[in-house]
Amino acid sequence: MLQCTALTDIPELDAFVALLDMENGPDHPPDVLALYDHLLCELGEHDEYTEHAARLWPVELPDARDLWMFWTGTGAHRVYRFDERPICQAVSRRLPIRHTRVCRLFAQHSATHSWDVTDPLGDLLTDIAREEVRRLYEEADDQDDTD
Ligand SMILES: [Zn+2]
Ligand SMILES: [Zn+2]
Repeated sequence: MLQCTALTDIPELDAFVALLDMENGPDHPPDVLALYDHLLCELGEHDEYTEHAARLWPVELPDARDLWMFWTGTGAHRVYRFDERPICQAVSRRLPIRHTRVCRLFAQHSATHSWDVTDPLGDLLTDIAREEVRRLYEEADDQDDTD
């Protein structure tokens, strides 16, 4: 399943308040807001009745809740809220144990778990980076040959 392509700008004042109010939030919320202008929906493609969802602040502690922004609509019709949600507990067991993957979404998300969501742009960038590394290695090899 492809990743949803919805993008939204961050309502800074409300995001600031949400970051300030949350448990285990950042020490300095303005630093977080300075990092991003926009948030991209992290869900797999979904219908218009499902809210878009993007993580604003990952706590990365066991049993902690991350801060997510949920929204529907665009422009003047956008409706949004911030909510702290526990992480989805699902684990992919279809693969050998060393490849076990955990879902990066929030508990009770709609649609598919994150490991089934593909991001063509992200994959493309990964391929380009991989190609670049290969090229650099080859250049290094060529230089070794001339010694
Ligand atoms: Zn979405
Ligand atoms: Zn999940």
